[in-house]
Amino acid sequence: MDYQKIIDEVYHRVKAGENLGELAHYIPELTHVDPESFAVHLTSVTGEEYGLGSYQTRFSLQSISKVLTVSLAYKILGEKLWERLGVEPSGTAFNSLSQLEVDKGIPRNPFINAGALVICDILILHLKNPKEDFLSFCRSINNNQQLNYSEKVANSEKLVGYRNIALCNFIKSFGNIINEPEEVLDFYYHICSLEMNCQELSQTFLYLANDDFRSYDNDEILNMSQAKRINAIMQTCGFYDESGEFAFRVGLPGKSGVGGGIIAIHPNKYCIAVWSPRLNEKGNSYRGMKFLEWFTTETKLSIF
Ligand code: GLN
Repeated sequence: MDYQKIIDEVYHRVKAGENLGELAHYIPELTHVDPESFAVHLTSVTGEEYGLGSYQTRFSLQSISKVLTVSLAYKILGEKLWERLGVEPSGTAFNSLSQLEVDKGIPRNPFINAGALVICDILILHLKNPKEDFLSFCRSINNNQQLNYSEKVANSEKLVGYRNIALCNFIKSFGNIINEPEEVLDFYYHICSLEMNCQELSQTFLYLANDDFRSYDNDEILNMSQAKRINAIMQTCGFYDESGEFAFRVGLPGKSGVGGGIIAIHPNKYCIAVWSPRLNEKGNSYRGMKFLEWFTTETKLSIF
């Protein structure tokens, strides 16, 4: 498979088309990026790398980080993790409050904000220094000591975090947040502010594509069954109320963030990362979705 040739062709086709959508204005610091930025990078399970565009420019992971937080929590707690949150698609926006009332404070899945806040609460209970320890976990996956949070982005979100404050307090009222909301939110804003470029992303998330993946310190990130399950949740919940659309158009498990990034996994083949900051109305990268749709069409490879 000539991945580079297909990446080049599809990249230029997408670039020649419209670039619709908006930056994530509700987090002011996220608007300081070039809306025309466009990057792709693929790392295969055998270690080959292919890319195009600004794939060495870091950007804000936002909800893509939720895959890393749930992976760490799953590694620590095993199946007990699912006592505090579900694995069902929500069919609602990522920051929706509406289902929590009916579901009595048990978020539908770890990829909506409500679920990610519960995961943050769990990590705070189990890590000595949550921010430092989570960062070390991310750095250890590929021995990439350069990874960091953006304090500017974390603070920017904190200043306008009214919805997340509401979500966290609402869940706490049902008893499903143990720590003080302020601490949980501070950790949450930090994990969302983690930055990577597309190359780093496609290398980092290989642990979900490769059965034999071992991190730098030779430790398994997730076992095979756990990796399968995280992929399953990405497939059904990774794009909130656009998850069905992504499965329909792309046919791979994936996860997006309002920084404009998307990662997608082809189990046993590759991890691909795309970045283009303009978002559609569901908060998913407009060009990222288009690129991946055409990429899986041209490679004729999907999990279905
Ligand atoms: N930090 C963002 C928020 O809580 C993450 C949302 C996203 O990427 N979908 O709103």
